[in-house]
Amino acid sequence: MIHTIIEPFRIKAVEPIRISTRGERKGWLEEAKLNVFQLPADRVLLDFLTDSGTGAMSAKQWGAIMEGDESYAGSRSFFRLEAVLKDLTGYQHIIPTHQGRAAEHILFSVATKRGDLVPNNTHFDTTRANLEYQGAEAIDLVIPEGLQPRTHHPFKGNIDLARVADLLEREAHRIPFGMMTLTNNSGGGQPVSLANLRAYRELLNRYGKPLILDVCRYAENSMFIKLREEGQQDRTVKSIAQEMFSLADGCTMSAKKDGMVNIGGFLALNLGTWVEAAKTLLILTEGFPTYGGLAGRDLEALAVGMEEGLNEDYLRYRLRTAEYMGEKMKAGGVAIVEPTGGHAVYLDAKDFLPHLSVEQYPAWSLCNALYLEAGIRSVEIGSVMFGRHNDDGTESYHTMELVRLAFPRRMYTQSHFDYAAEAICELKARAHEVRGVKIVKQAKYLRHFTAEFESATVQA
Ligand SMILES: *Cc1c(COP(=O)(O)O)cnc(C)c1O
Repeated sequence: MIHTIIEPFRIKAVEPIRISTRGERKGWLEEAKLNVFQLPADRVLLDFLTDSGTGAMSAKQWGAIMEGDESYAGSRSFFRLEAVLKDLTGYQHIIPTHQGRAAEHILFSVATKRGDLVPNNTHFDTTRANLEYQGAEAIDLVIPEGLQPRTHHPFKGNIDLARVADLLEREAHRIPFGMMTLTNNSGGGQPVSLANLRAYRELLNRYGKPLILDVCRYAENSMFIKLREEGQQDRTVKSIAQEMFSLADGCTMSAKKDGMVNIGGFLALNLGTWVEAAKTLLILTEGFPTYGGLAGRDLEALAVGMEEGLNEDYLRYRLRTAEYMGEKMKAGGVAIVEPTGGHAVYLDAKDFLPHLSVEQYPAWSLCNALYLEAGIRSVEIGSVMFGRHNDDGTESYHTMELVRLAFPRRMYTQSHFDYAAEAICELKARAHEVRGVKIVKQAKYLRHFTAEFESATVQA
């Protein structure tokens, strides 16, 4: 019996990686004001910034691109995508958008108002920001284990049902709908169980509240259910996914994740309530309802991608990649969020850099150090992303200080991962040299994308 899980594809087109030196990277990071979002991508060796829209498309997807029908109205490509999504989700109304946040913005514009509360396991940053933009409050109610980086639980993305029940009892009149993020990206790419989703649905039903899923990584979530949840082993991943969709009234999706495409998203609703207003806003901001901010060829690539994303050999390899990196980290004494999630490995920066206080943004500092030392671009999921500079001049900090290494789909090979693992473990041995950062310039919303920082990590 051979245990090595191989990449279930071979390479047809290659893209060169520019090899850089530490000295070059030091200058480049200073130019970027110590913010890796500001780095030109060709100054990055391994780009683990995000798995969003960064993956490789298949030959079949590239072939489908040539089939794109670019008609303004009633494009054949839309009907093809609509059929695939109706079959998968069972939802009646399919509204394509250019990416996930556009679906969020449209839904929240028509379905929330100032003073509303929206519970979720953990809102992703764009989800939270889009709710706050409407004057609504995003409430994160993940189970306590989901906030403890080293506590093992098969479904750390589960929502805390007792706290949901309590919130519904006290504030039902302010809650337009409940949300659930599959998998829980900001909490470590952790899955939600079918049992938890069912129980959440029942709670919401008692108050007549709809459930909206954020399904960016629904396929990875379904695979985790197949691997981990009792009684689910013999089902296909697709049928598990279909059951998840059936428990909700609609979803927002960034197809740049499990849609296996470089751009795209959709809002899908089974409820008629918000559809008309959503389509009006779609026409105003995205485009006609049969293309919604995408080209016909994008709709074709997505129709194929939605099916490829459910391939079980691919998903097994996909989840194994993160698990493999996690094993390497632990062997090197690097603390990570455990167990590993689907699309990424999350380093615990408080553990990695114990000499830095939260005011020095340890996760941001670690991100910069990884770039400087190895050319690896990662992303901070900590107090720069989720903390804030309050109007009264005080600062709020996030509970966890994580650095996410997110893996583009079907793009990097085993040696890339081995290089990254070696570099991170080597940095761990001299972690005390890494200094903190301070923010010198920031925007009010989504500040991490553009904030400027001073000092510390860049040393002579
Ligand atoms: C990526 C993501 C979004 C936003 O999607 P975009 O396509 O980046 O706009 C929303 N929720 C989750 C969980 C995500 O991972």
